[in-house]
Amino acid sequence: MAADGADSWTRAAAGIDVSFKPYEQHGVVANFATERPHREVACQWFRDDGVLAYLPLPGNLISIVWSTPADHAAELLALSPELFCDRVADAGGRRLGALSLVTPPAGFPLRLMRAPRMVAPRLALIGDAAHAIHPLSGHGINLGYQDARVLAETLMALPAHIDCGDLNWLRRFERARKEEVVALQSVTDGLQRLFSLPGQPFSLLRNAGLNFTHRLPVVKDLLVRYAMG
Ligand SMILES: Cc1cc2nc3c(=O)[nH]c(=O)nc-3n(C[C@H](O)[C@H](O)[C@H](O)COP(=O)(O)OP(=O)(O)OC[C@H]3O[C@@H](n4cnc5c(N)ncnc54)[C@H](O)[C@@H]3O)c2cc1C
Repeated sequence: MAADGADSWTRAAAGIDVSFKPYEQHGVVANFATERPHREVACQWFRDDGVLAYLPLPGNLISIVWSTPADHAAELLALSPELFCDRVADAGGRRLGALSLVTPPAGFPLRLMRAPRMVAPRLALIGDAAHAIHPLSGHGINLGYQDARVLAETLMALPAHIDCGDLNWLRRFERARKEEVVALQSVTDGLQRLFSLPGQPFSLLRNAGLNFTHRLPVVKDLLVRYAMG
């Protein structure tokens, strides 16, 4: 089982060629202590300079992901800790008051990675070794957890006379995961493109879409339940 990330050595050794689509954005991440409690609420702002997410951690701590063009990411990472805290607090409308850094910020290039296969003889790929998506959906890790759950279920159902690395048996795992992986990759990629379009008409369209979803309890409930697994 390979869980060695988007640049998986194991996947390459098995001869599974993947396609990468760079987003020309970097994800700037850091952890902060907050002045005001976050009340376990995650927030996301779709800004002209990218997508900023505040993600609650235990206590008065949050992690942030700011997906932003590479030059803006470089500018953020070059700021002093004090200025960086101010910039992130301002970008989030000071929702949680002042922020203080707990871990130094880091930036990662963002990319979509599609693999044609999740299995090979005696090998199953899970997590980012099998798929990587833009973080704006906040679902990268969930996809990996679901891979692990479905692979475990597939192997638990293995009859005693079949080898656990049997390719035909492992294909059951691949078939069970394919639909969700492809769907989430496509939706996340589409949203990334929609939220990258500059100009007021697109901004109005995006806001209308979000408000529309917000007012439809059935759709909203479905999305929330999906997000919570
Ligand atoms: C900027 C950014 C922000 C993100 N934000 C979110 C978010 O808010 N929510 C979310 O759900 N997802 C997010 N993601 C995606 C999430 O981080 C990944 O989906 C998740 O980390 C994948 O987990 P993984 O264990 O499959 O791979 P990784 O986290 O990449 O872990 C792979 C591990 O394998 C190890 N490894 C690699 N090669 C070897 C080897 N040869 N031998 C031994 N060990 C090896 C590595 O050191 C690493 O520890 C984000 C991603 C990025 C880049």
